[in-house]
Amino acid sequence: MLRRTKIVATLGPATDSQDVLQEVIRRGADVVRVNFSHGEAADHRRRVDGVRRAAAAVGKHVAVLGDLQGPKIRIERFAGGRAVLAEGEPFALDPALDPHDGTDRAVGITYADLARDVQPGDELILGDGQIELRVSAVEGMRVECFVTTGGEVSDHKGINRRGGGLSAKALTDKDREDVRLAAALDVDYLAVSFVRQAADVAEARALLAAAGSEARIVAKIERSEAIPRLEEIIGASDAVMVARGDLGVEVGYAQLTGLQKRILHVARSLDRVTITATQMMESMIHSPVPTRAEVSDVANAVLDGSDAVMLSGESAVGKYPARAVEAMAEVIEGAETYQLARERGRDRFEGKVTEVDQAIAHAVMYTANHMDVEAIVALTERGSTPLWMSRIRSDIPIFAFTRHERTQRRVALYRGVYPIPFDITHTDPAQLYRAISKELLDRGHVKPGDELILTLGELSGVSGGTNTMKLLRVEA
Ligand code: PGA
Ligand code: MN
Repeated sequence: MLRRTKIVATLGPATDSQDVLQEVIRRGADVVRVNFSHGEAADHRRRVDGVRRAAAAVGKHVAVLGDLQGPKIRIERFAGGRAVLAEGEPFALDPALDPHDGTDRAVGITYADLARDVQPGDELILGDGQIELRVSAVEGMRVECFVTTGGEVSDHKGINRRGGGLSAKALTDKDREDVRLAAALDVDYLAVSFVRQAADVAEARALLAAAGSEARIVAKIERSEAIPRLEEIIGASDAVMVARGDLGVEVGYAQLTGLQKRILHVARSLDRVTITATQMMESMIHSPVPTRAEVSDVANAVLDGSDAVMLSGESAVGKYPARAVEAMAEVIEGAETYQLARERGRDRFEGKVTEVDQAIAHAVMYTANHMDVEAIVALTERGSTPLWMSRIRSDIPIFAFTRHERTQRRVALYRGVYPIPFDITHTDPAQLYRAISKELLDRGHVKPGDELILTLGELSGVSGGTNTMKLLRVEA
């Protein structure tokens, strides 16, 4: 049985050796995330190049997800790299301070307008929620606070306001530059951070197009303001990330599990792809085994129907990047054995379809889920038919046969879809069917006598041309 739910692994210093990167890919990473929040253009270039080489060495199609930093508001630095804030003591955020010289009384901040966005009584959170401050006074550009939850804080930690409302715009100048970099690196997906509304996604899409990129857009849901606009934002995007780190800080962690399910539900209803992210196996940054709570979290994200689950620090800076990927793959497989028995035929489609390939995809999945079919094969140019297919619950593997490397990488994110390089040079149908059977037989996915469903267009090689569904028996 092939694992259906995909794994996104964030790259970082811990994956910088080719050996580790190959291991991360071999053990299950389907997509790698290059985080533009950390490092320089040269680092990203080197990492993407490393991924292409490692993927080729392992013989796998791995998509690259470039992740924009977005308007994350951060503190500057402390004189000693860190400070310990004590509960009840005053602590100020001040853009006028020397950016290298923070203390346990005050620190610099990258966002000069913070004082305009907050009022006395507001709660501010540093990092992923470890430190909490309450605003006591605003004096010019300086925001005076009291520490309500103390602890150690280090350089460049993010700041969020409980309830949202910090009004930095969605795409910063750095993001605009990084969109061009992402296009130059030929990334397959671009994640837009701190999206507030559909217009933010549209802006990123226009910038990508202007840079000549075909990358698909992932909207990261991580601000309070995005929640009332989920339909609009997800509708404007190709995929959505449940970005639980910042989202949990903005809305409070108690809301997170319900919101995760709601975001995934909206995405499913709009046929969009989903990634559940952040702290999924956090303890594996230091430990070779996950906690039971982490195992349960990953398994539940699978049962919630995520296309992919993501590793952040676990792979980027952790001690056990390859083991974290392997543990995640095991947990996914475990969860899927319980889920798939009741998956088939659960979808009852009542809507209207507008695209021919979408109609064919529905017909295929309906037929496959009610017959003894071993595999589905979609001859595809851009991957849209397998995308439609993978929106419908099933335990039957969907093989995307395509000659385009970009499509091979793009479909790596879709739940239950597996890319296979295939050049459609056959004009004789019998010859084509034999070539397809042989490809699947050689890879061990089917055996002689198995039933397949194939989709193709009359004019193979034309995008969006899928209009035919065909039942085949695998010949020896
Ligand atoms: P980040 O996004 O890792 O880029 O912060 C994910 C999140 O906030 O959960
Ligand atoms: Mn985030």
